[in-house]
Amino acid sequence: MSVDRVKIPYLPERIAGLGPVATNLSWSWSRNARHLFALVDEPLWHLTRHNPISILRRVAPERLSELARDPVFLDLYDRVMSDFKRDQSFDNTWFKGRHGEVAAGGGTIAYFCAEFGLHNSVPIYSGGLGVLAGDHCKSSSDLGIPLVGIGLYYTRGYFDQKLRLDGWQEDSDEVFDVVNTPLEQVLLPGKEPWLTKVRTFGRDIYLSAWRMHVGRVPVYLIDSNLEQNDPADRDLTSKLYTGGPDVRLRQEWLLGVGGVRILRALNIAPAAWHANEGHAAFMHLERLREHLEVGMSFDEAVQMVRASSVFTTHTPVPAGHDTFSFQQVEQCAGPVWEPMGITREQFLEIGQHPTESEGSFHMTVCALRLSRYVNGVARRHGEVSRQIWTPLWPDREVEKVPIGHVTNGVHKATWMSREMMALFDHHFGHDWGSRVEDPALWEEVLDFDDLRLWETHVALKNDLMNFAREQARRRWARHWKEATHVVGAGTLLNPNTLTIGFARRFATYKRADLIFSDIERLRALLVNNSRPVQIIFAGKAHPADTPGKEILRTVYGYTRDPKLEGRVAFIEDYDLHLAHRLVQGVDLWLNLPRVPMEASGTSGMKAALNGVPQLSTLDGWWHEGYDGLNGWAIPPAASRATPDEWDAGRFYSLLEEQVIPLYYARDERGIPHGWLQKMKHAIRVAGQQFTSRRMLQNYADQYYAPAMRGALAGDDPPIG
Ligand SMILES: *Cc1c(COP(=O)(O)O)cnc(C)c1O
Repeated sequence: MSVDRVKIPYLPERIAGLGPVATNLSWSWSRNARHLFALVDEPLWHLTRHNPISILRRVAPERLSELARDPVFLDLYDRVMSDFKRDQSFDNTWFKGRHGEVAAGGGTIAYFCAEFGLHNSVPIYSGGLGVLAGDHCKSSSDLGIPLVGIGLYYTRGYFDQKLRLDGWQEDSDEVFDVVNTPLEQVLLPGKEPWLTKVRTFGRDIYLSAWRMHVGRVPVYLIDSNLEQNDPADRDLTSKLYTGGPDVRLRQEWLLGVGGVRILRALNIAPAAWHANEGHAAFMHLERLREHLEVGMSFDEAVQMVRASSVFTTHTPVPAGHDTFSFQQVEQCAGPVWEPMGITREQFLEIGQHPTESEGSFHMTVCALRLSRYVNGVARRHGEVSRQIWTPLWPDREVEKVPIGHVTNGVHKATWMSREMMALFDHHFGHDWGSRVEDPALWEEVLDFDDLRLWETHVALKNDLMNFAREQARRRWARHWKEATHVVGAGTLLNPNTLTIGFARRFATYKRADLIFSDIERLRALLVNNSRPVQIIFAGKAHPADTPGKEILRTVYGYTRDPKLEGRVAFIEDYDLHLAHRLVQGVDLWLNLPRVPMEASGTSGMKAALNGVPQLSTLDGWWHEGYDGLNGWAIPPAASRATPDEWDAGRFYSLLEEQVIPLYYARDERGIPHGWLQKMKHAIRVAGQQFTSRRMLQNYADQYYAPAMRGALAGDDPPIG
């Protein structure tokens, strides 16, 4: 199998290894590799928003020749190359040490997800689910877990967010130039790019695949944009989560069915199959078809599929679970049940919720029926999921519903700032990376020197403020005609002021507008002469989520409200790049989901790894992550107030009585001793419990290894 190699036209022989390093996303979490590409051309490093392929395509050949003779550059280059080689091999990995006999079997784990958030240069994600999937791949690579990612090739990305002056979100296509990404189209020798085809809505759709390397983990993205396809089908995979339910259904069919067939075409034989969220559930039906077509009985085939299947559910919000009418699914899939030797009814029943409206195919139900290993994404979400899904196990008590949990985590090397890592180097020496699983390492963070930690934080905060000012300047340039109206909108950001960050999808349950419910009380907090507070918002609303867009408009309105004197800012176009700045540079991370709607949440973990404590309702990961020392929690309503009133009230009083006094209590050196203790505990707890390294170890131990051993279900009665 070959891949096209036209991305980087010229590299001197001595530094030719920059090509392979730039086209494997592992550079993005290697400090040395990042430094190396920044050295190639510092201005381009910033201009391209950290895109080494783009840098190597644009930098002058003379500059490259010069680097090929520069001893300082070459020294770093050689170190990067030797790390790169080591990190490609599967010889000495955690997985091999821990699950030797499974590893020796040579099987892989197919990880299906509708989006992957790996780096901002590959914009095929919309938010938390994608970023989590990205961190999942990165930690699998670190641990040597033989994962293969499967997703869709969104040639037009998600969307770029531009706010009108009145705060209404306009959605334009994201710019995505594949040549500047690590993606390469997979070509079989001497053949067309298409690898397989899938029949749906009465037509064959030919599919090709694009591949990128995430360290040791390959990720394949399915593409329907081929000449031989009907024009109406060519665009099917081009946009993430847009178009009506019909497009969505087709995309999910291509992901599930097409994904399995692409793996077959590439001769990849997974020993375990992980559907990350119900979007990928058709993958199970395709494997059911494979077993049935070779003559297995229906019950046997179901057992076979279940035994190797892992399913992760990600939300308790009903709208987060896709359902399609039987009629739609019939048009999409028909008549696939014929070669399967089952009836149409039998086929559709797989997605029928036992107690909800008849005639609807429920993707989560389908995945639950066909997976032996099922989990929620935090302890609390595991409990909530067992409750939600009891109807599928009508004979069991809630606690016995076979849904467990693996609490989400974040990829430390991606999310912890360079500056914070330098502080770790200073305290622990350069090899602390080998001790990250030792809880004692994280306890020792409590001994960090206050002044150094504070200076590190202040430097990161200044970076964020500069970044925010630059964004605001660009926005003025765009709206220059109306510029006089926007002056002041979020540009008075002051690095000495207590700064709160709130960045997430503008889904209604996340309640971005909650803090404005008592505007006078908020104003008194923000516009205080001696102890002011400022808040930075960021986030996109789903293009079809009108209520979410309304909330965004409301919040945006407050950035321009003279009463709040510029203490509320909004930074457009929340993506991975901006997320890094925010979680590293604010003082406090705010999260106000309506309990129990947040399955986990991960941005607070990213902030915590950078010493940014969180204030949150006790939902998602905070339910198990808050220990009284690492931030603040809003407990469940204790009065008859509505949850919104209660939570807002608690938010104001926590700020008034605890957060603000602690932040502004400075010692003789001008640093906030008490606040710094919160910061240290935030790092400690996140490092000990909420990294994706720990998450992947849990997945491997609880689910992947048993599924790969083909452990057939003993304690596993068929479900309703
Ligand atoms: C981490 C992250 C998210 C998810 O954050 P939540 O806390 O789950 O809301 C969404 N978008 C981006 C860009 C992220 O980096």
